[in-house]
Amino acid sequence: MAGEPQADCLFCKIVAGDVPATVVRESATTVAFRDINPQAPTHVLVIPRAHYADAASLAAAEPSVAADVLREAAEVAAGDKVDEGGYRIVFNTGGGAGQTVFHVHAHVLGGRGFNWPPG
Ligand code: 5GP
Repeated sequence: MAGEPQADCLFCKIVAGDVPATVVRESATTVAFRDINPQAPTHVLVIPRAHYADAASLAAAEPSVAADVLREAAEVAAGDKVDEGGYRIVFNTGGGAGQTVFHVHAHVLGGRGFNWPPG
């Protein structure tokens, strides 16, 4: 069923506490934890507790939870004090765009400068 935990999903295991992670924020609908391979001084992943493969499927099925993910991403940036300097929220969507974990996640990146267009 849509949104149900998937046994083979790494991020569902983090939500369940079966895989350890450095959790920085939790809400009723989301978990935020530090990326294991940070690409910036702040690199946090914000995920919905519910399993959806990507941002589009989450937004279609549970738009209020998609909004929760964005709100939590902003709170992460404020908590790490990278909001004033500017930060990035990135949803890699599909393998061609670099998505490797198919449980939707917002990358919150901050604490350094960024180029445009992204690589
Ligand atoms: P994607 O490439 O799907 O956009 O991003 C997946 C992210 O998950 C990568 O930045 C990767 O470093 C991170 N990641 C992969 N495995 C783990 C893990 O076990 N723990 C944590 N905290 N992050 C992970």
